[in-house]
Order: sequence, then structure tokens, then C-alpha cells
Amino acid sequence: MAVKVCKFGGTSMADGNVMNAVKKIILSDESRKYVVVSAPGKRFSGDIKVTDLLYSCYDELKRTGSCDAAFAKVRTRFESIVKELNLPMDITSILNETQRRLVEEKSEDFAASRGEYLSARVMAVLLGATFIDCEDVVFFNEEGQLDGEKTYKAISKAVEGLDMAVFPGFYGKAANGRVKTFSRGGSDITGAIVARAVNASVYENWTDVSGFLACDPRIVDNPRHIKNLSYKELFELSYMGANVLHSDSIFPVRKANIPILIKNTFRPEDEGTSIIPISQYKPEGNIVTGIAGKKNFTVILIEKTHMNSEIGFVRKVLSVLERENIPVEHIPSGIDTMSVVFDSKYAKDYKLERVIDGIKNDVEPDIIRVMENVALIATVGHGMSSSIGTSARLFKAMAQANINAKLIDQGSSELSITVGVRNEDCEKCISAIYHEFFS
Ligand code: ADP
Ligand code: ASP
Ligand code: MG
Repeated sequence: MAVKVCKFGGTSMADGNVMNAVKKIILSDESRKYVVVSAPGKRFSGDIKVTDLLYSCYDELKRTGSCDAAFAKVRTRFESIVKELNLPMDITSILNETQRRLVEEKSEDFAASRGEYLSARVMAVLLGATFIDCEDVVFFNEEGQLDGEKTYKAISKAVEGLDMAVFPGFYGKAANGRVKTFSRGGSDITGAIVARAVNASVYENWTDVSGFLACDPRIVDNPRHIKNLSYKELFELSYMGANVLHSDSIFPVRKANIPILIKNTFRPEDEGTSIIPISQYKPEGNIVTGIAGKKNFTVILIEKTHMNSEIGFVRKVLSVLERENIPVEHIPSGIDTMSVVFDSKYAKDYKLERVIDGIKNDVEPDIIRVMENVALIATVGHGMSSSIGTSARLFKAMAQANINAKLIDQGSSELSITVGVRNEDCEKCISAIYHEFFS
């Protein structure tokens, strides 16, 4: 029988009421056999996500050796969920044991992972399903990367003979035997891993929006709904800040051609968005599929006459960044100019100064300039390569909104155009591009 994996995000776990709605969704389709959950998210604006409460537990633990004050809030959240659902489980003992282990482990990743652990324990009782701890089935290698083969094998073995199982998202076991988390939003990755391991017919990702929208709904009111996305488009958009789905959740499912379906827990009847291989992709006739942006990049602009004929110039510049362990996002270039763009979190602790000195030393540029507080905005779509004048329209829209492009990079696959603007112009720029292509 075809099986489905469904992952429920933080808002879908926020309280007992929503968890009951989740139960109804799961039980309405008997192929929904494997469930992955996030930690309870915000119940109202201004509320605090359980994962953030747990990071505070770790801070308190580091400062004082205990986490009584911060953990009390986690305790209250779970006790009230269990009470609301009227579940036959001793949540107080589970919470006591969790707090004991938190103090014993003294690890930030361990602390952060407990939101998912606890919500999966609760969900398993609510569904009458088996709880499978990802500490026992999701493995990282020495480099801190997912050990796919070992993980897929362990998961498929763990679910053998089970009717229904619940997995906590977000964490697994590191090579040193300790609990390790993915980056924030990483329960989406766990969902994809489980889908791959059980060879699911679909990976359903249930969240609080009815699918992928052409841009962030917090920036533009009611953006166009996207019915179909290719894995590639999804990767570009999610990597660039469309955080509906963690960008790394594509890799496990793409290899096995498992489609992802994004659905809304609060409006389950809505169609959602399907993410599918390019071979099955049906363009909707739009030039642009979506727009996303991310703030806080640093750009180093380098000018040198005859740079283009100097053999090894680019390599020497990149070597300087490699020495400082800085990953480079983009390298827009001209005949005698090049820029390197990287996340500003890597510019701290005198690294930027060392990089500048290194470049001055190694390639002797005529001019070297640094721009900080740059936002990158990606306009993405398979339709862009076959349509003439797309970049002209994009730049016209920016000019009309009085936004200056600090850099431009068009990927050679013509799937996206990335522009760099000042952080404070980020939202305005996304909105201007959106209205140019969708209004
Ligand atoms: P979950 O807790 O279910 O994992 P997330 O908060 O991680 O949910 O992701 C869903 C949120 O992503 C939406 O509430 C929305 O505000 C935001 N978002 C950002 N960009 C987009 C987009 N292009 N389409 C839809 N939602 C988006
Ligand atoms: N709870 C984790 C976070 O807040 C992981 C997730 O929700 O996907 O980042
Ligand atoms: Mg998420």
C-alpha cells in the first residue's frame, strides 16, 4: 500500500485544540501512517515558541547551573496541552526526566531538541501510535552531515510491523553519540528523511498557509498562490528566505522522486502546493514563479585593470576567503571587476579585516570596497529563460520604486536573477518586483 508521511509544523502543534484538528486530518486518510512533528509554536502573536523557551533553558543552565525558571514555562505549555486533550499519560514524570537530562547533558542542541521530543510523545498517545525517538534512527557523520544510508536503514527497520509511528523532527545523533539538531526549521528535513526511508508516495508538509505563495505574505497582501513548483525553484526560493520549507528538505526526497505537498492545517480543504520533478512540472504560464529575499550580506568589490587576463586572479581571491572558512554565496563579475558576497555572520571577529588585508596582499587590486547590510533578492522561475526582457522589467520596477541595485547576478541556468539592495529596501524591492510581474 502507498504510504504518506505527514509533517506538522509549530503552529499545528501549538495547543490541544489544533492537535485535535491534526488528529482528524491524519485519521481521515489511512495511508497517513508516519507522522513527524515540530515543537509547539506560537499560539498568538507575541507568544514564545517552545524551541525558543528551550534555548533560554540552556542559557539559564549555563549561567546558574539550573534551568528551573525557564523550564517552568515549558512545563506549563505541555501540562496544559495534555490536560486540554485529556490524555491518559503521566506528562509530569516525562517532564521531570527531561529536565534531569537537560541538566546532565548541558548541551544547547539537546535542550533545543526537547520541544520536538515532548510533542511527539504527546502526539503518539493522542493517535495511539508508536513513538520512535530520532536519537535512535537519525545519524550524523563525523563532518556533522546526515549519514543518509545508516539513517534510512534504521528508520525502515524501526517501522517494520508498525501500524502508525510518530517521529520528533529537528534532531538526531551526532558521531560522538550526543544529540544534535539541524538548523532552525529543521523538522522539515526530518519529514523528508522519513519519507525517503519508507519510500512514501508523497511527503505532506502541513503548515499555517495554504501552500507556497509568490512572495512572503507578510510583505505583500494576498500574494498569488503557486500550484506547482519544481524542486529547483523551491530550493532557490527557500534558500533565499521563503521559509515555508527548510531548503535542505529537498535533497532526501528529490533523489527518490517523492513529491512534496504543502498543506494548511487550518484549511485542509485548500489545494496547497505540489513540488515535483521538472519532468512532471506543468508551467502555469507565468514568467516569474516567486520572489524571496534575505538580509545581512557583506559584499567585497574588487577592481583591477586587466584582471581578466591575470591567470589565477579569481582563485587567489577565493583562497583568501577559504583560509578564513567563509562560504561564498555569489561572485558577480565584469571585465575588470569582481565581487564576492557572503553572509555577514562570517564577517565578525576581525575576519573581515583579515580578508581585506589578504586580498590586498595576494592580488594587489586598484580598488577594494566593502558594502555591508546588503539584502539579496532572488526572482525565480523556469519561465524566465524563454521570455525576453525579464531583467529589463525587473530593473524598471526597481527604478520606479527608487531602489538602487548594488549588485546583479543572473545564474547561468537563467532560473533566477539575484539583486543586492540595502537591507532597508528589501521589503520595498520584493513588493515592487511582485507588482511588476503579478499585478
Ligand atoms: P511551520 O511552523 O509550519 O514549520 P513556518 O513558520 O516555518 O511554519 O513556515 C510558514 C510561514 O512561512 C508562513 O506562515 C509565512 O508567514 C511564511 N512565508 C514566508 N515566505 C512565504 C511564501 N513565499 N509563501 C508562503 N509562506 C511564506
Ligand atoms: N522547533 C524547531 C525550530 O523552531 C524546528 C522546527 O520547527 O522545524 O526551529
Ligand atoms: Mg517551518
